[in-house]
Amino acid sequence: MKRSFLGVLLLGLCAIWISDARADPPIKYAIAVHGGAGNGWLRLDGEERIEVHTSIKQAVIIGRDILAKGGTSLDAVEQVIRHLEDDPIFNAGKGAVFNSAGGHELDASIMDGRGRSCGAVAGVKTVRNPISLARLVMTRTRHVFLSSDGADVFAKEMNVDLVDQKYFWTQRRYDAWQRVKAKQKDDHKGTVGCVALDSHGNLAAGTSTGGLTNKLYGRIGDSPIVGAGTYADNNTCAVSCTGVGEHYIRNAIAYDVSARMAYRKQPVEDAVSEIFEKTLIADKGQVGGIIAVTHDGKITMQFNTKAMARGAADSSGRFDVVLVAD
Ligand code: ASP
Repeated sequence: MKRSFLGVLLLGLCAIWISDARADPPIKYAIAVHGGAGNGWLRLDGEERIEVHTSIKQAVIIGRDILAKGGTSLDAVEQVIRHLEDDPIFNAGKGAVFNSAGGHELDASIMDGRGRSCGAVAGVKTVRNPISLARLVMTRTRHVFLSSDGADVFAKEMNVDLVDQKYFWTQRRYDAWQRVKAKQKDDHKGTVGCVALDSHGNLAAGTSTGGLTNKLYGRIGDSPIVGAGTYADNNTCAVSCTGVGEHYIRNAIAYDVSARMAYRKQPVEDAVSEIFEKTLIADKGQVGGIIAVTHDGKITMQFNTKAMARGAADSSGRFDVVLVAD
């Protein structure tokens, strides 16, 4: 009797041990990247689509390699976004859209999930890589947010790469500006963002944009606003948003993803889909996307436009890059 009881116990323990050994290993690092949500991506010709796909793929590789070597999520986010800012096909850095005055004003923010330190710049006109300036605001000042001329002066002091406004002139964005001025639809695609979990367990998020085509001079969108377009907290997740920024600002969307996880214990997937279904639709903000990665490496990339350029990778070998809706 005693023997058979022991036998059953041993068998049970073995079963638990085997099922544990088969369980997926925990995700050590994970990264997700977006290149903006918008129906306009569908109007690209074949070659342009390949260009976008290739660039997002390169961005994911840059970030994944940093994380795989034990680098930090902040470095991954900054380097991924710098790469996308230098590519004229995205509405960030080089490819920034035109504002109503025919100029370019760039916005960016970055956040460290460790202690919620963050940095942001808005309305900068001479900075090649606004995401790096945002990081410098975080690490080299006692502030979190610098705007317009003050941010450009700070950029000079920090010796970052400065460029002339002409640097941001691209035919694609000029044509888009003409279309929007002629009252045609703005397909607002091309803002870039990145969220990452590193092997030290730290999250980071960043977003960079030229804003909306023909935006009023001085308009600031959600991308540089921590809690609206960007958020990161090691206890929950890192978030980067894209879409018509006004909806994201008034609904504190990036923070809401994190708050839903913290207070309602919602899985990130559900938190983001409920924000689309309830908050953004009710606010008629039915055009945009959200990417997030959690403290345990779960990635979600959701949008309600017809397309969002995006990619993801993690330590389990996941690697994907997609442009249109699945
Ligand atoms: N969210 C950006 C803004 O409103 C634009 C975009 O994501 O396409 O400035």
